[in-house]
Amino acid sequence: MKQNLSIKILSFFVIGYMLVALGWWSVLLHRKNTELYQVKKEILQRDDFNEESVHVLEEEFARQNTMILGESLVFGLMLILGIYFLWKAYQKVILASTKQKNFLLSITHELKTPLASNKLALETLQRNGLPEQKRKELIETGIQENDRLTRLVENLLMSAKLEHNYEYHFEKNNLENIISEEIVFIQRKFPNKSINLDSKFPDLSIICDKQSIHIVIRNLLDNALKYSQPLSPVLVSIGKERKSALISVKDWGIGIDEKHIDLIFEQFQRVGNEETRTSKGTGLGLFICKEIIKAHQGTIQTENHSEGGSIFKVTLPI
Ligand code: ADP
Repeated sequence: MKQNLSIKILSFFVIGYMLVALGWWSVLLHRKNTELYQVKKEILQRDDFNEESVHVLEEEFARQNTMILGESLVFGLMLILGIYFLWKAYQKVILASTKQKNFLLSITHELKTPLASNKLALETLQRNGLPEQKRKELIETGIQENDRLTRLVENLLMSAKLEHNYEYHFEKNNLENIISEEIVFIQRKFPNKSINLDSKFPDLSIICDKQSIHIVIRNLLDNALKYSQPLSPVLVSIGKERKSALISVKDWGIGIDEKHIDLIFEQFQRVGNEETRTSKGTGLGLFICKEIIKAHQGTIQTENHSEGGSIFKVTLPI
């Protein structure tokens, strides 16, 4: 942090110096040109004064002044443009390194927690005389932690495949079936959560890669539950918007700070600081959703709704 600040101060100093030096050299050149012009004019007036040669001298003087001004401006502009592009590249490098650091921190945490939790559960199960209810709870916790690990590995693999060679198998699929299957799957894991489906078009079919659309719905539902209070409901709707199917996933949770809304679809991007954050995740889910939806020529966006919470809207061509 301190080192970054020193580099910034040093860079601003060098840039400032370059701009001032450029300005100063331009003024100096202009002065020298004026002095030369005056000397030449005096010589002309002394030796063989004629209006024609004075006129030629004045024209030359004006031309050189324009040249000095023009070149200084072009040079200055190029310098500023160069600095601007360098600055942008620098910001990108900083962002990439912050994301990488965040990813490493979150992935370490995400891997360690379920492993430690499962180890503890197994050690407790090893003890004799454990009440039946406690045994069930421990097994349930173990399965949930295992599911989390599976989801994490799935997302990591999918993210890597999407960046390289994921092969989409497009075919006609009923949208409601895909969504219902995901809801049933999540509901089985979290029986206390209320996840409702409001489908106005039960027969709506789209050409899509079934497996990847499953992953999109799973990630959106996962987030809707993760960023809400335990008993807060989630509503999934299926509708139509022009020539597209519209899927929306609405929650009544914490919502998303407006200034982060455009960033959350980036890879490894999570809201807040990794060192102080309490929610689990890697910042891969929405990136995967965005890439999959893009490959289907659809759109994905989010907004906060007036009742408090967020709503994710996905459109897919019918
Ligand atoms: P992860 O959930 O693993 O952090 P995601 O890519 O799924 O990664 O989400 C990126 C970020 O977007 C999250 O860290 C969270 O801050 C924000 N986010 C996603 N979905 C929701 C939601 N339904 N409500 C509030 N914030 C959300």
